[in-house]
Amino acid sequence: MKRPALPAREFIAPSDLTFGLSTCKRCLWIKYWYKVIMPGQFPLVKPLSQAQEEHFRRRSMPEIDPSLRPGVVKQWGQWVKSTYIEVDGIKTRWRINGIYDLLAHNDDGTVGLIDCKVSDSDRDNGAFYSPQLEAYAFALENPLTGKAFTVASMGLLVWRLNGVAQNVDGQFGFGVTQHYLPVERDRVQFENVMRDLISVLEGEFPESGLECSTCTYLTQRLALES
Ligand code: SF4
Repeated sequence: MKRPALPAREFIAPSDLTFGLSTCKRCLWIKYWYKVIMPGQFPLVKPLSQAQEEHFRRRSMPEIDPSLRPGVVKQWGQWVKSTYIEVDGIKTRWRINGIYDLLAHNDDGTVGLIDCKVSDSDRDNGAFYSPQLEAYAFALENPLTGKAFTVASMGLLVWRLNGVAQNVDGQFGFGVTQHYLPVERDRVQFENVMRDLISVLEGEFPESGLECSTCTYLTQRLALES
């Protein structure tokens, strides 16, 4: 497949630094050059993470986790767009664009970034999500327009489903256990991940992966139809 003269999207989604890069790169390449996106099938993810995000609006940070510096969650669910990303000192054509979950304004003038997750996956660890959170931090510290912030902390707020409860009116609800996972700032890793991603995007049409059930399905179906 040939590349058009310009990519259909020049803004990189922070989630592509985790899930996109952890699988085969072909769908990622098609997404950015042609804006053709494989539909996801995660019906409960959005309502659950929205409920979690709403629960923590205007909360104090030490209330969320005692390790966090004093501050209050004052912004949530907002788009952030960055300036152009530089790799090895060279400006690329790519920028970051994404919606963060929670942003706390700390008493010392810095901000704290929190990503909400409802999950029971062992993959919910700081190392896996670090590039994604660092991408939001990059956009907050290097915004395309508006005020730049200094991001002092980043972390995952994880809810793990833990049983079902019923109230006196007979209504049911899910219970959760909660933990906050701090994610260390790591600009070097972020630049390494951006270098990898941008070299995939600027490269030739990638090979498809061997173990992706979607591609296997498409290949079998095309064979039947031909
Ligand atoms: S194997 Fe196929 S469907 Fe899966 S990510 Fe790669 S190109 Fe996309």
